[in-house]
Amino acid sequence: MPAEIPPVIVWFRRDLRLADNAALSAAVETGAPVIALFIREGSAGGGMPFGAAQAWWLHHSLLALRQALHDRGGDLLFFTGEAATVLVQVAQQTGASQIYLNRSYERDDQDRELARRLKAEGIAVHAFQGQLLHDPSRVRTGAGRPFRVFTPFWKALQALGEPREPLAAPDAMRGASSTPPSEQLEDWGLPPTKPDWAAGFGEIWTPGEAGARFRLEDFVEKGLRDYKSGRDFPARDLTSRLSPHLAHGEVTPAQAWHAASALDDGDPAQITHFRRELAWRDFNYSLLIKSPRLATDNWNTDFDGFAWSFDGALYHAWRNGLTGYPIVDAGMRQLWREGYMHNRVRMITASFLIKDLMIDWRKGEEWFRETLLDADPANNAASWQWVAGSGADASPFFRIFNPTLQGEKFDPDGDYVRRYVPELRHLDKKYIHRPFEAPDHILQKAGLRLGESYPRPIVDHGSARERALAAYKATRY
Ligand code: FAD
Repeated sequence: MPAEIPPVIVWFRRDLRLADNAALSAAVETGAPVIALFIREGSAGGGMPFGAAQAWWLHHSLLALRQALHDRGGDLLFFTGEAATVLVQVAQQTGASQIYLNRSYERDDQDRELARRLKAEGIAVHAFQGQLLHDPSRVRTGAGRPFRVFTPFWKALQALGEPREPLAAPDAMRGASSTPPSEQLEDWGLPPTKPDWAAGFGEIWTPGEAGARFRLEDFVEKGLRDYKSGRDFPARDLTSRLSPHLAHGEVTPAQAWHAASALDDGDPAQITHFRRELAWRDFNYSLLIKSPRLATDNWNTDFDGFAWSFDGALYHAWRNGLTGYPIVDAGMRQLWREGYMHNRVRMITASFLIKDLMIDWRKGEEWFRETLLDADPANNAASWQWVAGSGADASPFFRIFNPTLQGEKFDPDGDYVRRYVPELRHLDKKYIHRPFEAPDHILQKAGLRLGESYPRPIVDHGSARERALAAYKATRY
């Protein structure tokens, strides 16, 4: 009898898919039995831990991945611990000496260290790219440095040509005949139970690769046609809502890029604009690679001396959507209810926290990380710093959003506000973004009692703006 070929290990992380998964395809192509595993590392394991909302997503995404692997003759094993230790143990127990993984740029230096440790144990690591449109080391300035400004980054990225064609999912794979005992995913207790505040998520989202594929196809068919002109209007739902799927690697940006070409009779400007947004994600990852502490340290150190103030009651009102500014409240309640918030409203709510309440952007980054299903270590940190003005290529601090005017411009009929702030449902369109100016008879007609059924503004925007500008000036001079 010929000796059995030793198995190879595929380590799944934020790449919970079978299609366009270069690491999995390469492992299957070796012809060896495949041991696919997921490691629950926790904060001690390095990298960013998943937030509470993402724990719900992760549970369902792992279930979907396990089923997809079963359908092809494989399995998915679950372990808890420090990644290198778990991988060495599994390799020693099974005789594997090759590990396949997709690079995860949020932990680039840790991955290099891990490869060194495994090599010392006689285990080779094969790393592949797929998380971004292009390998970040290829998108460089003429002098070979990473970009700090988006527009030249985007030009350089386009000059590289299209990202590679997505790979098909393997049809079948050989499972290993003997594997170490796996933990039970169901025992990890990832979804919340008491109370089950994620109950509504399942009505909106379908975690997993099939859900991602559906979202992408649906978007190309219905949203992409008007993407450029419509993406700023939260009530219109014209964006892809692919972000939680991208954050868990259930779809690759290359798949999204290429799928956009399927828009028939499409205006190329819509396709290009969508691809440009995907490129922002690549750009933010290039910032994270350069500055791994992007979620905690100001990119622009001029902001280190900024005099933030923290008022627990104001912060609480912001988190709960009770600021008295309807567009801010609608956004914060959408976040809580759906684990998602429209991009335009993310900018408005973030600006409100930072500039109207003068609360440190890191408090906002933390709350979004905990509550967003798409929380992404690069996009979240870079976007918060973009709004704060402390980031690379950021919006200047002195550009302060007026939440009332933003609401009127981007939610002109108030449909978005009415969807998430039911107290305001019957308020006249003229006052939907400024209930605090409505005459008594209008409030009465809408069944609204300011200060009781809906709050009065927790700060006056005009004076808050002056205070923020003064603090900014004091930091700079
Ligand atoms: P679409 O408009 O359909 O765009 C497609 C994809 O392109 C998105 O899924 C995303 O991957 C990428 N993209 C789109 N807009 C941006 C952008 N402005 N910056 C970077 N990438 C973008 N995005 C996250 O994925 N995770 C986060 O944790 C996150 N936190 C944010 C925090 C703040 C304060 C702000 C202002 C923005 C944040 N964003 C974050 C960026 C953006 O809001 C979301 O990517 C977008 O709303 C997701 O919706 P969509 O998939 O429908 O986007």
